[in-house]
Amino acid sequence: MAAIDTATLDPAHTVVVATGNAHKVVEIEAILSPVMPGVRFVALGELGDFPDPVEDGADFFENALIKARAALAETGPTLGLSMAVADDSGLCVDALDGAPGIFSARWAGEHGNDDANNDKLLHEMADVPAGGRTARFHSTVVLVRGGEVLRGDGDCEGRVGYERRGTEGFGYDPLFLPDDTPGRTMAELSLAEKNRISHRFHALEDLAAKL
Ligand code: IMP
Repeated sequence: MAAIDTATLDPAHTVVVATGNAHKVVEIEAILSPVMPGVRFVALGELGDFPDPVEDGADFFENALIKARAALAETGPTLGLSMAVADDSGLCVDALDGAPGIFSARWAGEHGNDDANNDKLLHEMADVPAGGRTARFHSTVVLVRGGEVLRGDGDCEGRVGYERRGTEGFGYDPLFLPDDTPGRTMAELSLAEKNRISHRFHALEDLAAKL
């Protein structure tokens, strides 16, 4: 991720977004900018090379808070930043009692191995009939602003498919059929289409309504 000139930052009007994913920054900025006028959103990765915190929270909210607080611990003392946004998300499958949930990224062992995670999902769901394949993506977004913590929650309801389809997106997208786009997996949607129905979109809207 390209570095930005930290001399151009106005700490009182800068939100650090605790992600290395440039798409997430664009999505977050698009929804929160109208309710946080004059604020600049910068990705943590643009401010330096920081280690990922250990996400050992008990739920999505705790993990999002760990990420937001870590971003502030890394940038507060040196750059004077006091506002951070982070999200934590995952797939919750009803037939698997909500798994993989907060363990979505590392369900099959190695962190971020989407292929292995999708293989595991197909395997675990092999004997589950069509009617029992309901699932949802969940996202919890957290904004830390000084001593204040605000949260937004959102879901994208759908079903787990029988085979991978599509090449867009990431994670479990090729196996997830959103109720909002019948017959198409999340990986068969353009980024713009996904952003209109996604769990992160709904969580950001929920947060924006509180600002
Ligand atoms: P994170 O909270 O963005 O780190 O996401 C955790 C994990 O949840 C990812 O590694 C994916 O496996 C899964 N996940 C979260 N959001 C999505 C999505 O929009 N599509 C597919 N998988 C997702």
